[in-house]
Amino acid sequence: MTNCRTYAVANQKGGVAKTTTVASVAAALAELGKSVLVVDLDPQACLTFSLGLDPDNIELSIHDVLLGRVSSRMALQQTAEGPDLLPSTIDLAGCEAQLLMRTGREYVLRHALDEVRSEYDVMLLDCAPTLGVLTLNALTAADEVIVPLQCETLSHRGVGQLLDTVHDVQRLTNPNLTVRGVLPTLFDARTLHAKAVLGDIATRYGVEVLEPPIPRSVRFAEAPAAGKTIMRAGRRSPGATAYRSFARSLVGLPPAEPVPSTIELPADEAPDDEAPAFAEAGLPGGEPR
Ligand code: ADP
Ligand code: MG
Repeated sequence: MTNCRTYAVANQKGGVAKTTTVASVAAALAELGKSVLVVDLDPQACLTFSLGLDPDNIELSIHDVLLGRVSSRMALQQTAEGPDLLPSTIDLAGCEAQLLMRTGREYVLRHALDEVRSEYDVMLLDCAPTLGVLTLNALTAADEVIVPLQCETLSHRGVGQLLDTVHDVQRLTNPNLTVRGVLPTLFDARTLHAKAVLGDIATRYGVEVLEPPIPRSVRFAEAPAAGKTIMRAGRRSPGATAYRSFARSLVGLPPAEPVPSTIELPADEAPDDEAPAFAEAGLPGGEPR
């Protein structure tokens, strides 16, 4: 496996589903038999937590790797969902300041990942909600950047600022970096506003709007607390289906065949629908439009 692709999932705005996207796409790619590494670059360690590890009980983290104390291989953890993880802990909060004093600080992650790159098909880098030195490391280590975007609360300036940073990275540290596009998350197809915002983004910034949009669903709020991704917590929910489809297109696979109904699922992974969520919202039926 020498053709590893590395994706940074970045947006300096918090709460736009960066971490959810990394966890879900990684689990979906693992389902497809891909060998996947995810890297938690947020001191809040939400990715680490949502993949079933307790950040308070991790001995070696990405922090130690970035400071050159251990190799990335030594800090790798396996997860129940399939992907390998370079975990984060709160220690990472001090890492920016320590890296700032070093020459070549933007390349530290790239070099650390070089050691294991040949063992993976895909690496996904979950960025913190900043454009600080850790995010610059992710953009420098990546082939492509994916920008999750919550259409409703869109800030155009935020996207512009992120793309400016991408251009700086292309000029200074990673000429091969490309923008894969904007992934609509927490998407509510019932609002015309969301669609209008996406059209505007595409023309204003000349970036692709990726398909399919990821629907808003309560399932996502429940999954991380159980240390599971949506792929296991609600494997047939519209959110899981959307991420699965996005994951396939990411690696150039055609859209999926429908899951055969003969597959036996364990009780806690039984098929489900979105009926409660839509009932709560006062909408008829279980089928989101
Ligand atoms: P970020 O990493 O950008 O800060 P997260 O992935 O942590 O964002 O998501 C923020 C919150 O939104 C989390 O509570 C997550 O469970 C929730 N969330 C993410 N995607 C969806 C979705 N499609 N529908 C509903 N809630 C979602
Ligand atoms: Mg996050």
